[in-house]
Amino acid sequence: MFISPETRLSATKLSRLVEISRELNAKTNVDDLLTHIITQAALLTQAEAASILLLDPNTRQLRFKAASNAMNPAMKDIPVPLEGSIAGAVFQANEPMIIADVSQDPRWNQNVSEAIEFQTKSILGVPMHDVQRPVGVLEALNKQQGGFTAEDVETLTILADIAGVAVEKARLIEQLQQAYADLNELDQRKTDFIAIASHELRTPLSIILGYVSFLREEADPLMAEQLDSVMAAAVQLRSLIQDMLNLQYVDTGKTALALRPVDLVAFVRALAAKDETAVARQQTMMTHLPTKPIPVSIDPGVMEIVFNNLLDNAIKFSPEGGRVDITVERRGDEAWFHVRDSGTGIPADKLERIFKRFYQVEHHLRRQYEGLGLGLAIAKELAELHNGRIWAESVAGQGSQFFVALPLAEGA
Ligand code: ADP
Repeated sequence: MFISPETRLSATKLSRLVEISRELNAKTNVDDLLTHIITQAALLTQAEAASILLLDPNTRQLRFKAASNAMNPAMKDIPVPLEGSIAGAVFQANEPMIIADVSQDPRWNQNVSEAIEFQTKSILGVPMHDVQRPVGVLEALNKQQGGFTAEDVETLTILADIAGVAVEKARLIEQLQQAYADLNELDQRKTDFIAIASHELRTPLSIILGYVSFLREEADPLMAEQLDSVMAAAVQLRSLIQDMLNLQYVDTGKTALALRPVDLVAFVRALAAKDETAVARQQTMMTHLPTKPIPVSIDPGVMEIVFNNLLDNAIKFSPEGGRVDITVERRGDEAWFHVRDSGTGIPADKLERIFKRFYQVEHHLRRQYEGLGLGLAIAKELAELHNGRIWAESVAGQGSQFFVALPLAEGA
């Protein structure tokens, strides 16, 4: 029989429903939520038990998801067809339905009763919706005294509406958590792959470099020129592999840092003097260093990676004959290192993203610069391991400036 609920619920019942709505909204685990819904459904309608069937969107059948009597695990797999079943009729009609005596209803399936070890006599079934569409059926089974009333219909209908939205929300949260876990796993696999690949590539490359430099010594001038090209390509490859290897510093974290007091001024002077690429590209590299030392506590080997990544980029992205300025200064209780270049510049909306792993401003297919897009991500993570900060500023077409701020050594 189809019912149209017209009763007015008591204030107590309404306030209980509001309370339940709050409880349901606080739950984010779908199974907990379903259990809570059926417990409340049975309590509110004074029924012996309750159950929820949700639509399987693939098979278009309903499936038991929870029941208030200790649900036989096998029951979860029992499909209930939309045609020729009571729950299916509630779902398809999208209307509440009371079956006072199931034994008189041809749609009643005795197998279900047997499977769940519960003798069903009467059913009040109401459709459950999420925001837009019907998603399942909520059933109260066996009214303890008398038959299900219009008030039960209204109560269960409201509960089913609240429940449908809560279930959908919990499902979305679970999907999101799953997607997040998948992403993390993917990220970990990518990091593992880089670590393995870089180690595997390093050994054969060392052999190539060794033999080429040996052959270069013995070679006649024509051969020597060709071997120089091989050598240059191998050195370029080594620097790419080094970027990949540097990731491991980041991933082993703070514990691996060997901090010691260093004068940042002397450190940067030595670093800038070593750079030969700028000379080869006829670029002017100027250093602006204070006369007084600036003591910081750093792992020099690791900080060299940070500064070199910034210097290499400044040189790489500046044109031949361009200019690179390196400055070290004391700013309050920090030491600042900055590099200004005369290169392409970086669009304002990319200034933060360039510090993400593998991010490159130019599309990889149209790129004219070599690199893996790892240098800045590594520099950022390593600077942060030193409790430092790193950032970039740029005016389009007028080059870029990269900054590293480090805390001064204690007592400085
Ligand atoms: P890559 O190996 O690609 O240089 P990085 O992490 O060092 O990787 O840099 C990421 C991206 O940031 C570069 O591909 C480039 O698009 C941009 N970038 C970095 N430094 C500069 C710079 N000095 N001038 C212009 N663009 C830069």
